[in-house]
Amino acid sequence: MSFEISCSCQHNELVLNGPVIMRFICHCLICQNVYQAPYADVVVAWKNDVITTKFQSIDFKKFRMPPAVNRGICIQCKKPVYGYLKSYVKHDLAFIPAQNFKDSSLLPEPCLHEFYHRAVSPVADDLPKYYGYMHSMFGLSKALLKNIYTADNA
Ligand SMILES: [Zn+2]
Ligand SMILES: [Zn+2]
Repeated sequence: MSFEISCSCQHNELVLNGPVIMRFICHCLICQNVYQAPYADVVVAWKNDVITTKFQSIDFKKFRMPPAVNRGICIQCKKPVYGYLKSYVKHDLAFIPAQNFKDSSLLPEPCLHEFYHRAVSPVADDLPKYYGYMHSMFGLSKALLKNIYTADNA
């Protein structure tokens, strides 16, 4: 599977040459700030599968103590391009905004909400909702392990 990705101003273009592990919604304050939106709609993939085809103006920074996502922000449009997280599961993980995929119809639906205690407005869906830091980390890790295991055994 191959997906074309770019930031909103097209200064940074990437290709994901590999599977999507999962997609989730994060309501944390850092995501609200970085995405300049009420929540982040995030696609998780393996970092090794992300290839940068046009990579001009990106600034990587962490917004809190480890383990923290290293977030790449476009210097031009100030929007997130993609982030990555050191992982001890198998490989490092990439976190890519769903809005950066050229064809979002290829993506799976989100599977959970995390940091839901920070939700700006309630979301009416049947997805699991995790509140607080520990509960959110637990929910995200559980879903990641399940999806990685399923992908590996497909
Ligand atoms: Zn940009
Ligand atoms: Zn977040």
